[in-house]
Amino acid sequence: MSHSPVPLGTFPTPVEPAPRLAVALGLEPTDLWIKRDDLTGLGGGGNKIRKLEWTVGAALAEGADTLVTTGAAQSNHARLTAAAAARLGLAAVLVLRGAPGAARSGNLALDGLFGARLAWAGDVDQAGLDLAAAEVCARLRADGARPALIPFGGSGVAGARGYVRCGEELDAQVPELRTVVVALGSGGTMAGLVAALGTGSVLGVDVGALADPAAAVARFAAPLAPQEVTAGELRVRRDQVGRGYAVLTGPASEALRLAARTEGLVLDPVYTARALAGLRAAVADGDVRPGEKTVFVHTGGLPGLFGHPDAVAFAEQGAAEFADRVN
Ligand SMILES: *Cc1c(COP(=O)(O)O)cnc(C)c1O
Repeated sequence: MSHSPVPLGTFPTPVEPAPRLAVALGLEPTDLWIKRDDLTGLGGGGNKIRKLEWTVGAALAEGADTLVTTGAAQSNHARLTAAAAARLGLAAVLVLRGAPGAARSGNLALDGLFGARLAWAGDVDQAGLDLAAAEVCARLRADGARPALIPFGGSGVAGARGYVRCGEELDAQVPELRTVVVALGSGGTMAGLVAALGTGSVLGVDVGALADPAAAVARFAAPLAPQEVTAGELRVRRDQVGRGYAVLTGPASEALRLAARTEGLVLDPVYTARALAGLRAAVADGDVRPGEKTVFVHTGGLPGLFGHPDAVAFAEQGAAEFADRVN
């Protein structure tokens, strides 16, 4: 079941050196490179674009006219599904956890701008979201529409193909690459990288979106990888989850500030700041060493920073007054 991808993003994305961040982490200045997958183009950018090229490609092949997907209220994937729909002249319905009424900041503001319709599923788990999405699809069909359901986070074997391509780009861009560090949410991003680069080269930092993230990565990677992939051989850190997916942790706050102040690089509070905190922990415990080439994949998520009240408050704490008033 391999359809052609539909072009949505701008590729290859650049790889940039991050010498000041490298030193701050305890690495050599030339050890650390940032893969700018926050710069994928469409809809504010981010990693979901690569996966959507494949999942939306399959939806178009089925004749869909409406994209339906699920996520947290501040889902980057839902926002980019809405952008892809707008780009392709399709409708989008986003089935989101929670209830309407909260301020429509961050990703929600963009969902509205892209013209997506929202369906609020209440305080449910993923199974509850999937049920709500099935109900939305049934109603759309009854109204004569042709909905296609894009899986949670765009992750599956199809979506992971987009990250096989990212792995191939990295192979060409960074000779002697030892470790690629990436946030691990729904699993498709790490899965594609593992399929392209091998289990030993990819370090996933779990953000707490799934009960068993390694199993998901292995399931999505295995059909795409030349070698066998088992969950047990994956490099996954689970020490950055803290009190859960949407809760800003101390190490992630420090990582946000560190990337911003050493490189002018803005991370997001849920995924990439956790991933950088995971890299910092990996250097501290010797899993990632100075003298080796390390790539940090910036997977995007900037709108999520503005949609996260704790992260905005944390960022504001850094604003020092130079003077109350000049003249
Ligand atoms: C979704 C997301 C991830 C995680 O990717 P998965 O393929 O879901 O594991 C990482 N970073 C950002 C900014 C994301 O939106």
